[in-house]
Amino acid sequence: MTSPRLRIAVTRALPEPVMDRFRALHDIWVNPDDRVLTPDELQAAASGADGLIVTAFDRFDAKAIAALAPHVRFVATYSVGNEHIDLDAARARGLAILSTPDVLSNAVAETAMLLMLGAARRAHEGDRMLYEGRWTGWTPTQLIGREITGKRLGILGMGRIGETIARRARGFDMTVHYHNRSRRPPEAEAGATYHATPDDLLAVSDVLVLAAPSSKATRRILDTTRIARLPASAIVVNIARGDLIDDDALIAALQSGHLASAGLDVFAGEPRLDPRYLALPNVYLQPHQGSSTIEARLAMGDILLSGIDAVMAGRTAVNRLV
Ligand code: NAP
Repeated sequence: MTSPRLRIAVTRALPEPVMDRFRALHDIWVNPDDRVLTPDELQAAASGADGLIVTAFDRFDAKAIAALAPHVRFVATYSVGNEHIDLDAARARGLAILSTPDVLSNAVAETAMLLMLGAARRAHEGDRMLYEGRWTGWTPTQLIGREITGKRLGILGMGRIGETIARRARGFDMTVHYHNRSRRPPEAEAGATYHATPDDLLAVSDVLVLAAPSSKATRRILDTTRIARLPASAIVVNIARGDLIDDDALIAALQSGHLASAGLDVFAGEPRLDPRYLALPNVYLQPHQGSSTIEARLAMGDILLSGIDAVMAGRTAVNRLV
């Protein structure tokens, strides 16, 4: 059973088919400008709403949650990861928080493979050579990269997305290693080797993929000391959040040649990124496109709609964080 029509404020334009589904069920206000709302604009949007659909770039700290009008029952984030929402404050306020787990894992895992391959095979340099008209024809020494086939893949944060990456990587005969704070059950490990510390994981990671949430514990988890533990010519991929990486450390290791290359989808301080990345030949960059597939975008809308239904009906929801 679906809940009665609700007044829902949507802070960013979502793909039209998603908006159509929302509008069919609820009374929707959508931010007319395709930009992040200011904190005051966010409160104004919430002032006439039963709930909000937001993105990872809308911040709900304790102050913002306390300021929400009492009729706001839920904040549903069109994303995974809750670094932008103070869950304790939400719990204390009785505000339901929903997100979009699982349904974007395939999309993000495919991006991880794209970044791994793009970084390993020097895709950025090849692109530039063609687009800048500098290609003079095949030579045996042109843009020699590395294979990921058979290499050791280290996954820092093997949850829903990390596990999906592991499955894809096994198709490349990679051996999977991982570190989480707690060991996964055997069916989730599927033969992956658990490392109790990030340092142990790094020592065996020919390709390291960061897939852990942004938190106090993971901020700048990949710093100079840890990068030094990676094998020579390792590849670093980040599909998690930019602040897991100390940019100075990563850039120095890419410049020195200790790391072969990096593939990055996310950056500290997005949409700005450290301009030094743009000058490095051995990086393959994407503008936070991890979940940008039509399949994921539609499913993200659907899982939020069913979560909202469940919250309003007092049922449990698989995608409810609080
Ligand atoms: P998830 O299922 O919660 O998995 C996260 C994993 O990280 C868990 O296995 C967790 O295990 C581990 N972890 C958490 N804190 C850790 C720590 N301090 N040290 C080591 N491991 C830690 O989440 P998910 O669905 O896979 O998503 C992961 C992240 O991907 C999100 O939080 C988000 O930031 C990012 N993401 C990016 C995009 C994109 O477009 N690029 C899209 C969606 C999500 P333990 O709890 O046992 O440590």
